Amino acid sequence: MKISKVKGFSDILPGEVELWQFVEEKAREVFARYNFAEIRIPILEKTELFSRSLGETTDIVEKEMYTFADQDAKGSLLTLRPEGTAGVVRAYIEAELYKVEPVRRLFYLGPMFRRERPQKGRLRQFYQIGVEVLGRGDPFVDAEILLLLNDFFWLIGLDSLTLELNSLGCVQCRPRYREGLLAYLRERTGKLCPNCQRRMERNPLRVLDCKEQGCFEATRHAPSILDYLCEECRNHFTTVERLVHETRLEYRLNPRMVRGLDYYCRTTFEWTSSRLGAQNTVAAGGRYDGLVEDLGGPPTPGVGFAMGMERLTLLLEMKETQGPARPDLYLVWVGPAARSWAFPVVHRLRRRGMRVEMEGEEKSLKSQMRRADKLGVSFVLIVGDDELKRGRGILRNMDTKEQFEVSLQRVEEELLARKPVMHNENCKV
Ligand code: ATP
Ligand code: MG
Repeated sequence: MKISKVKGFSDILPGEVELWQFVEEKAREVFARYNFAEIRIPILEKTELFSRSLGETTDIVEKEMYTFADQDAKGSLLTLRPEGTAGVVRAYIEAELYKVEPVRRLFYLGPMFRRERPQKGRLRQFYQIGVEVLGRGDPFVDAEILLLLNDFFWLIGLDSLTLELNSLGCVQCRPRYREGLLAYLRERTGKLCPNCQRRMERNPLRVLDCKEQGCFEATRHAPSILDYLCEECRNHFTTVERLVHETRLEYRLNPRMVRGLDYYCRTTFEWTSSRLGAQNTVAAGGRYDGLVEDLGGPPTPGVGFAMGMERLTLLLEMKETQGPARPDLYLVWVGPAARSWAFPVVHRLRRRGMRVEMEGEEKSLKSQMRRADKLGVSFVLIVGDDELKRGRGILRNMDTKEQFEVSLQRVEEELLARKPVMHNENCKV
C-alpha cells in the first residue's frame, strides 16, 4: 500500500535542499556579523503560550493551530508551534537569560505549523528563519534589523523586494485609534465578511488584515493609525524613518499594515515581492514591547522578524532561470584621465564584493550607456574630465532613473551604502 504525505506538508529532496542550505548558510553569515546567537526551542509548546501571546482573535489561534490533548496532564492542550517569537520569549523568561545579560540578540530557524489552505508559497508545515532582539526599546535597533534583512537579501541575490513600514502605536495611543477605526467600521458593517463582522468589536484592527476583497474595499479610506500616534510613538517612528532614510533603504509607508498577531506595537514592517502572486510577503516583523511582561517576565522591550523559507527559495529558483546575474555598477568614463581614476576604484569595489564592469578602450558616452542598459546594471557612475576637476561624479540609479551627484572621494562608501553586498570572505579588504 502506498502512503502519501499529509496535505500541506512537503519533502525537500536532494537537488532542492542545496538551495535551502545556501539560504541558511548566508543567514548564519549575516547573523554573525550583527552578533546574533542561535537559540533552538521546542516544536511543541503548551497551547496557552500561543493563545496568550498571539491573541485569542487572531486567525492563527482561532483556526490554524495543530492542537491536541496532553496525555500526561488531564485537561491540558499542546500545540505545534505556529511561529517562533512566543517560544523564544518563553525560553528567555524560563532560563532567566535576562539575569546574566538583559539584551539578547537571538535567531532561530525551523519548521512552523499552521492549518491554512495550502497554495503556492503557503504550506501547513513551513520553515521560518527569525530574529529577536530582547531588551532594547530604542529605534536604532529597529533600523538595525531592517538593515540586517536588507544585507541578507543582497547577499543571497534578491534585489527587488519592497519594504513597507508602519507603526501600530502603543497601549497609550492605540485605544484611541481603535475607537476611531471602530466608529468607521460600524458604518460599514454590512460590507464586511461574516468573520470580520463577528470579531470587529473585539479586535477591529484585524479587519484591516483580512484577505477578503470586500473587507479591503470597505476599509479603503479607514482612518490611518499614523494620525493617532502619541508623542513618544511618533518620535520613535520618526527616528526609525530617518535612520532608514540615511542608510539609503527605500521604503513605503503602509498604515494598513497591522500584522496578523496581537503582540505587535510601534514599528511593524513587511518585505514583499511582486513576483510571488498572492502570497507576496517574504519577511515580516515588528516590535512587541509588552510581550515579555505579559508572559510573566520582567518588563523587557522586544523586536524581531521572521521570513519564510519556501517563499525565499521560490524567488531564488525564479531568479536562476532569469539569466546571468545582474551587475551592481557599470562605470562610464570619458577621457584617459577618467580611465586612470576609474581603474583602481573598480578594483577596490570588486574586492569589497561588488559586481562591476568598465571598458578598457575609449567608447562614446552613448555606446557605454547602451551597454549598461544591456547588462541590466543597478547603477551607472559617469566620470569625465569635468567631473574629475570638480571631484564629483554622476550616479544614476538605473531602476528609478534617478540621477544625482556624488563626491568622487566618497564614491565607494556611497555605492556600498546603496548596494550593501558583502565582500568575499577570502578577500582581505
Ligand atoms: P501571510 O500574510 O502571508 O499569511 P503572515 O502575516 O501570516 O503572512 P507571519 O506570521 O508574519 O506571516 O510569518 C512571517 C513569514 O513566514 C511570512 O512573511 C511568510 O514568508 C512565512 N509564512 C507564514 N505563513 C506561511 C505558510 N503557511 N507557508 C509558508 N510560509 C509562511
Ligand atoms: Mg498568515
